[in-house]
Amino acid sequence: MQPSLVAGRECPRTYREFVEMFPDDEACATYLEQLRWPEGFVCPACQMTTIPWRQTRGRLVCPICRHQSSVSAGTIMDKTRTPLTTWFEAGWHVTTAKNGLSAKTLERTLGTSYRVAWTMLQRYRVAMVRAERERLSGDVEIDETLVGGVEKGGKRGRGTSKCIVVIAVEVRQPKGFGRVRMRHVPDASGVNLLPFVCDVVVPGAVVLTDGWGGYNDLPDHGYTRKKTVLSSSGDPAHVSMPGVHRVSSLLKRWILGTHQGSILPAHLQSYLEEFTFRFNRRTSRSRGLLFRRLLEQAVVTGPITEADVTHGYNWSRHQQVGIRRS
Ligand SMILES: [Zn+2]
Repeated sequence: MQPSLVAGRECPRTYREFVEMFPDDEACATYLEQLRWPEGFVCPACQMTTIPWRQTRGRLVCPICRHQSSVSAGTIMDKTRTPLTTWFEAGWHVTTAKNGLSAKTLERTLGTSYRVAWTMLQRYRVAMVRAERERLSGDVEIDETLVGGVEKGGKRGRGTSKCIVVIAVEVRQPKGFGRVRMRHVPDASGVNLLPFVCDVVVPGAVVLTDGWGGYNDLPDHGYTRKKTVLSSSGDPAHVSMPGVHRVSSLLKRWILGTHQGSILPAHLQSYLEEFTFRFNRRTSRSRGLLFRRLLEQAVVTGPITEADVTHGYNWSRHQQVGIRRS
């Protein structure tokens, strides 16, 4: 067993260890190689597992078909001029800071331009969504919440111009919450709500909703719907949906705190993905593990260009549209 392979399974526990492990681009590339090809280099062109020839600037050449690649080619780091050490530094900060950090803070921390910091964060967020493939199960609360404004007049906000986010939360017995999933939807009609549920909740699960008609067709898709109808006296929603209420207030606090509330609707889903990645690993004691997980996802997520993220990433390519599939 080569010691370097063992090293690839390691993750730094402190910033000091991080700095020691990744002093230069070469160390970063070696680490990424182990994450990307744990069984050894696989040529992206001919798909053969071989030992590549190594050239300068981290170029890997397949000895069979002579295809030239690099560890970052075909990943979210593809064709960026940002050094790997900067990517790593950003990944470290975004996973170890308790509440993550804004592009503005990252810009200051790394000494890069705002643009570089911002696009790195956006690319990492796309990588984060890959980590959330397993659908929620058991009892799942689902409800919509409004992001970016204060609700007025006791209305639920359905059909308003503010950003509507559907939230699904696993409810544990006797108490506590499991994982979450979220989606920014254009409106709260069944056309948007049903595909979301089908994408993120396993059929057979018990789905807890309020009396909203948008959820009426859930039983047709294999779910048991439990309706909690709010009394006409106007009980606050959180009485019946404690999980969604809790997650939604954490989300809003995170957006206001870490990101100063300045999120454009076109980018909202990216932030929801980061929040989800973070929330679903909230009990993880090792932040370094989160860092490694993020990089693992980064090397298996396809290239993302700057144009892909500039006006809001097209998230539908990650959404499975479960209704049509079934
Ligand atoms: Zn090859």
